Amino acid sequence: MRWETRELTGTDPGALLPLAGLVRSTQTPEFAGVTFHEVLCKSALNRVPAASSMPFSWTINPTRGCLHRCTYCFARRTHEYLDLDAGRDFDTQIIVKTNVVDVLRTELARPSWAREHVALGTNSDPYMRAEGRYRLMPGIITALAESGTPFSILTKGPLLKRDLPLLVEAARTVPVSVAVSLALLDPELQHRVEPGTPTPAARLDLIRSVADAGLECSVLAMPILPWLTDSEAQLDALYAALADAGAADVTTGALHLRPGAREWFLAWLGREYPELVPQYRRLYGRGSYATADYRSWLGERSGRARRRHGFDKRPSRRWAHRPEATMPPPEAAEPAQPALF
Ligand code: SF4
Repeated sequence: MRWETRELTGTDPGALLPLAGLVRSTQTPEFAGVTFHEVLCKSALNRVPAASSMPFSWTINPTRGCLHRCTYCFARRTHEYLDLDAGRDFDTQIIVKTNVVDVLRTELARPSWAREHVALGTNSDPYMRAEGRYRLMPGIITALAESGTPFSILTKGPLLKRDLPLLVEAARTVPVSVAVSLALLDPELQHRVEPGTPTPAARLDLIRSVADAGLECSVLAMPILPWLTDSEAQLDALYAALADAGAADVTTGALHLRPGAREWFLAWLGREYPELVPQYRRLYGRGSYATADYRSWLGERSGRARRRHGFDKRPSRRWAHRPEATMPPPEAAEPAQPALF
């Protein structure tokens, strides 16, 4: 891909943000309205706080902010730590750690590195379209595999297909998990609620490609949106399509409205589906989770679809795991949303 870029100068709005390690800020006609801030990072591996319910101890986020623009994304608030906002800035001000592979190699070579599981795709999608230019993932995959570090990738991006040969090669050396995020099939609703994401059809094709390459592909069917994607027919069609595409396992979860995502999502809902706002306010109150009754009801409903399409007969796999992490099966209770999707 040939990119024409324009480097921002000090007189451009958004240029010279006070970002640590900032090398330059650029814009390109390929991504109208988006500014890429290229930084030199000091660390690549991030330790997950011990108190976190995330089923992994380490993450790598080669980028911050996300072009997929999911209205419900609960990584939005992380942009506030950069003095950017959790709404439009998260969608359009993308931080790219251009030296992440070199830094990662140094960290993986340390004698203290214990080769614990590393998750990618927790705060930003590593296969958003910009990865086509920056090509950070091949170096990351190779570095992890060569160091004997197991890893998982969660994405909505068909660009992952580019790296399938590398992933297959890595899986010969270390455990590799690939998961695709897909929780709805209606392209019109997808375009409204996740306006920067590839279509459901493109993601089903990605699942098929991962499975055809011989890797198990899990699916995070999250978030299921109350009154928008949670009907019996919608869940049945989703599970049917995922089974047909060759998904190894599916985990569903109701929408989670953490602060940061909550304000952005409810504003979107008010514009697109104002009639649903009072119902959502009743369901979520002032908290982040839907009521226990709703989650239990959704768990039963998705459990039926899961059984109808044979997923109960497959060994349950989780997208990323560490041995001590245990989560209830989806049909028994809704799991805490283990990632952003
Ligand atoms: S949910 Fe994932 S894909 Fe969507 S905006 Fe957030 S990080 Fe990107």
